[in-house]
Amino acid sequence: MNKVYDVIVAGGGPGGISAAVSAARNGMSVLMIERYGFAGGMATAGLVNPFMPYRSKKDQNHCLPTPVFMGILKSLSENNALEKGGLIFDDEILKLLLDKLLLESKVDILYHSLVTGAECSKGTVSRIYVACKDGEREFEAKMFIDGTGDGDLAEFAGFKTEKGRKEDGACQPMTLCFRLGGVKADDWKALWQELNAIFKEGKANGTISDPREDVLIFRTLRPDVVHFNTTRVIAKDGTTSTGLGEAEITARKQVWELFNIFKEKSPLCRDAFLMKTASQIGVRETRRVIGDYVLTAEDVVKAKTFDDGIARSSYPIDIHNPSGTGTVLKDVEGAFYEIPYRCIVPTGSWNLLMACRAISATHEAHSSLRVMPVVASVGEAAGLAAAEAVKGKIGVAEVDGKKLKKALFKDK
Ligand SMILES: Cc1cc2nc3c(=O)[nH]c(=O)nc-3n(C[C@H](O)[C@H](O)[C@H](O)COP(=O)(O)OP(=O)(O)OC[C@H]3O[C@@H](n4cnc5c(N)ncnc54)[C@H](O)[C@@H]3O)c2cc1C
Repeated sequence: MNKVYDVIVAGGGPGGISAAVSAARNGMSVLMIERYGFAGGMATAGLVNPFMPYRSKKDQNHCLPTPVFMGILKSLSENNALEKGGLIFDDEILKLLLDKLLLESKVDILYHSLVTGAECSKGTVSRIYVACKDGEREFEAKMFIDGTGDGDLAEFAGFKTEKGRKEDGACQPMTLCFRLGGVKADDWKALWQELNAIFKEGKANGTISDPREDVLIFRTLRPDVVHFNTTRVIAKDGTTSTGLGEAEITARKQVWELFNIFKEKSPLCRDAFLMKTASQIGVRETRRVIGDYVLTAEDVVKAKTFDDGIARSSYPIDIHNPSGTGTVLKDVEGAFYEIPYRCIVPTGSWNLLMACRAISATHEAHSSLRVMPVVASVGEAAGLAAAEAVKGKIGVAEVDGKKLKKALFKDK
């Protein structure tokens, strides 16, 4: 029989890591289960970079994320793995630093293990099933936290979830990120213009199949390495092996198409080489759990705050078109909005919390809260709430959201 943990976290992305560290710092015995051999989720496996801005647009001194994420930034910075004063990071060093953070926080780590099922009765998850390299294993805990990004654990436990936009369930497209090395990127504007002109021409003459409207590129920590967040795969389901696999194949074709055409036509990419594609395609949107509060577009845009607000964001609504070309952006009209604790508690749950992008929100609100600094704050709150529930021998819905807010944000 395995040890019974206070808290088990499924998934080690920005949300899951923050939840695991936060629960452990609050005195819990914690196991974090992750399907890959490293933590970081999209930040490492998906090659997603940079972190989106985490300071209030109205007040640059007002820092929004909670301590675990800020600690990760500090540690990246101390290891020369963060852009000076910026948001670009080294994903390889991040893997190493996350191992260190988890181990120093006394989190037990189970890598190379996929959560595949759960036993749940009347809102109480009693055990989960995990496909390990050494066969299927079962784990028990007092509290469970879903950090899978996709809400896998909530779904396996039978909690209500939904997917995509209201009218047809279509989710935001997937993107396989990639890096080109050997690019002459000193004049960033010139590079951007050149690549976009080639892209436009390729789309017009049918040599480029990517449905995006333009080329989205970012600088990296190396002057000659350029990060591309620019492939686009629509109408595939990120919660099935078939959907993910088909998306990978389509996106890989787009990567090579783009690389070959840029190398052939752009003088700035003449010596370029394809450094790497991400270990897995980036998945922006899949399931969202239904909680006692559903965050809406209006809450985001009108910068609504809540008594039980456990995470803050000033990132806009940012919807990459689920059907093809185009991106919708809508700014937050105040300093920041808050995410209530009720959004991370699946309705009817006694001992399951959400610590990932799959929280209770509409398709539109999700498109804003999904960015890494925000999801990390959501995770930190989930870890703290799980610890409160264990200590108080109460269900997660009974945890005092106002108390959580006070503990997470010293100004309220
Ligand atoms: C292409 C793309 C570009 C983006 N650009 C940016 C950007 O520039 N800046 C920004 O801040 N955000 C960006 N985002 C958003 C952001 O990366 C994600 O929304 C965020 O990482 C979500 O965090 P998460 O912890 O919920 O999930 P994830 O980061 O997906 O982590 C989930 C983790 O759980 C693991 N897992 C999943 N299922 C299981 C299971 N059943 N059992 C065990 N482990 C499991 C996964 O391997 C992964 O490690 C982008 C997203 C995409 C897809």
